[in-house]
Amino acid sequence: HSTSLGYSVRSYGVSRRGVRGNFIPPIKSSGGNTRNLTAPIGGAALDDSTKRCLDLLCGPDGELPEKLRNLEPLLIQHVSNEIMDRDPNVRWDDIAGLEHAKKCVTEMVVWPLLRPDIFKGCRAPGRGLLLFGPPGTGKTMIGKAIAGEAKATFFYISASSLTSKWIGEGEKLVRALFGVASCRQPAVIFVDEIDSLLSQRKSEGEHEASRRLKTQFLIEMEGFDSGSEQILLIGATNRPQELDDAARRRLTKRLYIPLPSSEARAWIICNLLEKDGLFKLSKDDIDIICKLTEGYSGSDMKNLVKDASMGPLRDALRQGIEISKLNKEDMRPVTLQDFRDALREVRPSVSMNELGIYEEWNKQFGSLS
Ligand code: ADP
Repeated sequence: HSTSLGYSVRSYGVSRRGVRGNFIPPIKSSGGNTRNLTAPIGGAALDDSTKRCLDLLCGPDGELPEKLRNLEPLLIQHVSNEIMDRDPNVRWDDIAGLEHAKKCVTEMVVWPLLRPDIFKGCRAPGRGLLLFGPPGTGKTMIGKAIAGEAKATFFYISASSLTSKWIGEGEKLVRALFGVASCRQPAVIFVDEIDSLLSQRKSEGEHEASRRLKTQFLIEMEGFDSGSEQILLIGATNRPQELDDAARRRLTKRLYIPLPSSEARAWIICNLLEKDGLFKLSKDDIDIICKLTEGYSGSDMKNLVKDASMGPLRDALRQGIEISKLNKEDMRPVTLQDFRDALREVRPSVSMNELGIYEEWNKQFGSLS
């Protein structure tokens, strides 16, 4: 039962522990001796950080919740430290455009997470939400904002890391993920690139490990779907057409997150420049930039602004001023010409052909077509 993490699963089968991080010897063996979990059989001892992490998950009785008892401590620790984000720090106001998506998401998932007492019976919400559309359009931001607005714990995992980085361990990590989430309700589990986990079954070609991973994932989803748990699963993908039918059905709401409109692009430019006090463009300048950035995603816009804001600095250095002697206040503001220069460097990352695929899929399966 030893894992690639060098920890013995069996040794953690019983996991009673004290509130102060001291492990209470779990079971009396026949000889009256006890097995000490800090020195598990055949595996590494739990270090202090793992113990602290498990401690935080213990209930008021000092016991680890039932769901976590048979899970590997190091995986629980990984979920708590790397995947869980207590403060996602994104608000609706940080997201440009997408008004319709924000409104629907508020009604469909934020309110139910805030008021489970009202949203039951006929009003019971779906537990699965799919956000699909081109990359860099704010899907992850929406996930974080949902968690922020609903005061929920946010868990972020990239499905491709589950299949690549966690080879063989992915299934256990998924169990740990759902286990910890159920102890941290209300919770939002955001699975990026969900298509790589729940792609259409290719029975012969499909690797045994990824098949098991997928099955485990669907089982976990089913588990909280039927119960009274306040867990929302958000899948994000830019390849919705590759999703398995069963997975698609479980993600009951499917929202298209398109490229930003001209107004949204203007908002991104102003917002980013204003934050840094670099904003001096006229309304006409902004209009021109917006016309020139048709087809740019939100993340392309961010890269564009970054590049343009280097313009004044490059200029100053070109005039022979040394970077160490450069006075910040003496730098000129960012101009339309800086944007024109940046537009040569930063090209749109999404092709028009791709957009057609999303729109088709939205018509067929989207919730708001
Ligand atoms: P996705 O998950 O759709 O691939 P992200 O939400 O990770 O994209 O967005 C990547 C970055 O692009 C964000 O951190 C943000 O800076 C910028 N961005 C994308 N869409 C928007 C938007 N609608 N409003 C503001 N910024 C955006």
